[in-house]
Amino acid sequence: MKKHNFSAGPCILPQDVFQKASEAILNFNNLDLSLIEISHRSKDFIAVMEQAQQLALEHLGLEGKGYKILFLQGGASMQFINVPFNLMKNKAGYLNTGTWASKAIKEAKFVGEVVELASSKDSNFNYIPKGYDVPTDLDYIHFTTNNTIFGTQVKEFPEANCPLVCDMSSDIFSRQMDFSKFDIIYAGAQKNMGPAGATLVAVKESVLGKTDRAIPSMLDYRVHAEKDSMFNTPPVFAVYVSMLTLQWLKDLGGVAAIEKKNQAKAELLYNEIDRNPLFKGFAVKEDRSSMNATFNLVDQAHKDSFDALAKEAGLNGINGHRSVGGYRASLYNALPIESVQALVDAMQELERKA
Ligand code: PMP
Repeated sequence: MKKHNFSAGPCILPQDVFQKASEAILNFNNLDLSLIEISHRSKDFIAVMEQAQQLALEHLGLEGKGYKILFLQGGASMQFINVPFNLMKNKAGYLNTGTWASKAIKEAKFVGEVVELASSKDSNFNYIPKGYDVPTDLDYIHFTTNNTIFGTQVKEFPEANCPLVCDMSSDIFSRQMDFSKFDIIYAGAQKNMGPAGATLVAVKESVLGKTDRAIPSMLDYRVHAEKDSMFNTPPVFAVYVSMLTLQWLKDLGGVAAIEKKNQAKAELLYNEIDRNPLFKGFAVKEDRSSMNATFNLVDQAHKDSFDALAKEAGLNGINGHRSVGGYRASLYNALPIESVQALVDAMQELERKA
């Protein structure tokens, strides 16, 4: 039996996707060639790219709304610099909700002035700041919807008179939202979409070309949009597996259907964290993430016993990030509820033994 995989990313993908991806590595589309040895400009691969883009648009409800879907490289981290290069004239507002938001801020400062709208650093990012003022002279505002490390999630966004940009690396395609509120959405593939190596960018074309900056080609969204993500060789395998995963999601009923499953998984785990006297949650309740649940033992004396129980139950990847400690269970789209039940069983077993 496979392990229960709670890894934060790269992470679990659907079994069916692993199967199809492995078949395509050996013989793609009955071409008697591997997916990874054919030209990215062949009609077979262009069809993959187009389907991946179309599925992403559909899942985000952005069809016919002036958005372009790009598959780029360099991870979400590259977008920390692409975004200001393409949108920043003078200054931008950033909500500082954790490590990734802080890194995005650091990169944006290479390009212009950054106004930190609010920060939850004062309590190790265990909540999402609210009720902050939004200046009216910003070129854009940047959020990180889901804070993978700290286990918090932004559920409401302020009104603003400028473009909104969002790093959705760890919760894209997991919950319904009005995605057309955002002018740029980006996400590294390696959580809910596919393997590491591709980064999804959904960009509203009307927000581009407003700075007077000369933008190097690889950083320029307009170049990638014009060339349909084929300006240079795209990460063919990552795009293919992303396409398979997006198709899997569609067959399952799309974002609305997976959101229900994700809510059920999160509820099962958070209920146990709150009920079990040996554990406590890290993030404040109202800001808890449905994708990454962070929790600690109340008494570290139980650590070895719990780690042994987790190992015995085949639970993989539940150690918390070093900046939080304790445990983090990532509940991405492909994780079955049975895996969450196995974790809950281990927590209850610890309580019985303690
Ligand atoms: N943003 C968020 C929210 C993340 O979780 C991560 C990676 N875990 C990143 C950005 C960085 O992504 P990458 O490693 O693809 O650059």
